[in-house]
Amino acid sequence: MKALQELVRPNIWALKPYSCARDEFKGFKADVFLDANENPFPNGVNRYPDPLQEELKRSISPMKSVPVQNIFLGNGSDEAIDLVFRVFCRPGVDNVVAIAPTYGMYEVCADINDVEYRKVLLDDNYDFSPEALLAACDKQTKIIFLCSPNNPTGNAFRREKIEQVLTAFQGIVVVDEAYSEFSSQRPLRLDIAKYPGIIVLNTFSKAMGCAGIRLGMAFASEEIIGLMNKVKYPYNVNILTQRRAMEVLQDLTLLQRHISQIMDERQTLVQAFSLLPICKKVYPTDANFFLAKMTDASRIYRYLVERGIIVRNRSKVSLCGDCLRITIGLKDENTKLLSALRKFV
Ligand SMILES: *Cc1c(COP(=O)(O)O)cnc(C)c1O
Repeated sequence: MKALQELVRPNIWALKPYSCARDEFKGFKADVFLDANENPFPNGVNRYPDPLQEELKRSISPMKSVPVQNIFLGNGSDEAIDLVFRVFCRPGVDNVVAIAPTYGMYEVCADINDVEYRKVLLDDNYDFSPEALLAACDKQTKIIFLCSPNNPTGNAFRREKIEQVLTAFQGIVVVDEAYSEFSSQRPLRLDIAKYPGIIVLNTFSKAMGCAGIRLGMAFASEEIIGLMNKVKYPYNVNILTQRRAMEVLQDLTLLQRHISQIMDERQTLVQAFSLLPICKKVYPTDANFFLAKMTDASRIYRYLVERGIIVRNRSKVSLCGDCLRITIGLKDENTKLLSALRKFV
């Protein structure tokens, strides 16, 4: 990797971050807080939250096997994605490279930040070529985005291929592992120490069952985490979210049981889909959803909507003609979907 200073926007490198009231007394024990203009009457939320979410990070660290100092927490992984653009990419000058199709937020954030977004199409098996990705890069390429397991295709990429990119590319590689709990592959977050330019994304929204609290994670070198913390809003993760996440982490056995059930249901549903006359192909999946090529995705989509069943119509996405993306639901929801599809004419 290039020196970090060469990759970071000069204004961000030089930035003196906002210093919140709670930062300044660090190291002292205190019980009278007259520093932040809060209302002193206790109601559970009258105090500002911990800006660096230290207690929550200490709970996440052993679960994810990532040291506390290598963890960033944000308002969904979407905050981390946006921050990566704001830290590294000069608007109107720098560019990023990504596989296509993939998660839509990378391109939206690129557009918002006025950063050129270069797409490199996957092959017919939804696999990518490290050479093609690297060939799309130039001196102004700051970031490569890889999502594995990929959304909307569902497949995980071979680790060696991702590592090939990590070894060859001189900039930042974002590896979005939002669905890694549903995959049998060893996650790259366990190897952040090996790759100074890697940023791995995880989220509480999928396997952790907490899409509503908006909590995303990024794992990277301490230096990169420091830059993200410098640019984020001071109190980016609210107190209710921090508390609820702590509670969820108390019962990992329950979470693991739900993940296993989703994976069992995935197998059943994929099997049943492949037997439907209106389904032409089910793509291999390492996620809690799968992509299916149908005879007429848009008609089937509308038919399902009329019956109160919502799936994701991906048929306008490149390489996904006539494809529906199906999230694995509860057994009884999956059964409703199947029986509706069996009656489709
Ligand atoms: C769902 C998803 C996320 C999660 O985003 P949050 O903002 O944490 O809810 C991130 N990346 C991918 C690829 C996803 O599909």
